[in-house]
Amino acid sequence: MKQLLILSGKGGTGKTTIASSFIELSKAKAFADCDVEAPNLHLVMNTNTKTSTPYYGMGKAIIDQSKCIKCGLCKESCRFGAIDFSDKYEINLFKCEGCSVCEFVCPENAIEMASYKDGETTIYRDNYIFSTAELNMGSGNSGKLVMKVKENLKDNLTDEPLAIIDGSPGIGCPVIASLSGVDMVLIVTEPSVSGMSDMIRIIKTAEHFRVKIAVCINKYDTNISQKQKIEKYLIDRKIELIGKIVYDKNISKILNEGKTAVSVDSEASRSIKNIYSRAIEILNS
Ligand code: SF4
Ligand code: SF4
Repeated sequence: MKQLLILSGKGGTGKTTIASSFIELSKAKAFADCDVEAPNLHLVMNTNTKTSTPYYGMGKAIIDQSKCIKCGLCKESCRFGAIDFSDKYEINLFKCEGCSVCEFVCPENAIEMASYKDGETTIYRDNYIFSTAELNMGSGNSGKLVMKVKENLKDNLTDEPLAIIDGSPGIGCPVIASLSGVDMVLIVTEPSVSGMSDMIRIIKTAEHFRVKIAVCINKYDTNISQKQKIEKYLIDRKIELIGKIVYDKNISKILNEGKTAVSVDSEASRSIKNIYSRAIEILNS
């Protein structure tokens, strides 16, 4: 199975618009949403039958107050500042990274690591498999949860030739988890300073994974000089720009109706179709 990953860096660039369009165009029977902090691909895919499973990531520290002698060693040792003290020592679960150092230093064995629900994974089944997940607010395990989303996709498939993966936003650990094991990444960028900066950082990361890389520019007509800078950068780096999409204010309206951008005919949807064709050619080359 070949895996095509779609990334964008900052949110709102059009990553999910492209991913949902590609799924419709390819009739892919395998796809995933790795944006575990704010998954939204299911909103445009009209998905029905689903199975959700709690996801337990790393443990979090718990203090047994009946054993605590208030020596303060745990608070001094926690480099994440996750232990608060007012009249007693308490773990701040939003800050606790589950490193176990406090458990190790506590002279009274008053601290234990307990499993903690970080979110849940979901598999939608129809005549396709769609794997996704949602991280609980404040949980810091998004990279591991992304790996779980991809693992669930693979484990539930038989012989699908193509999987389309809506990657995680940003440029951190979840993006690296999204990149692992894919054959090609399509970076959706926009003509802004931050869009270009994110694109460059993703390219540099993707090069480490030795995956095929292509770029498309969404809303290219909103900043022509910045678009030209992106084009020049890509030429210099010998990375193919496989298409440009005009700004189309109707796209968000179409998505809000639960449809994909390619479900209507427009200049933007025709560009997305061309980008899809070229992406598949590169993926299979
Ligand atoms: S190290 Fe143990 S005994 Fe000391 S304050 Fe922390 S929990 Fe209490
Ligand atoms: S497990 Fe680590 S991060 Fe959590 S409270 Fe203990 S020392 Fe701090």
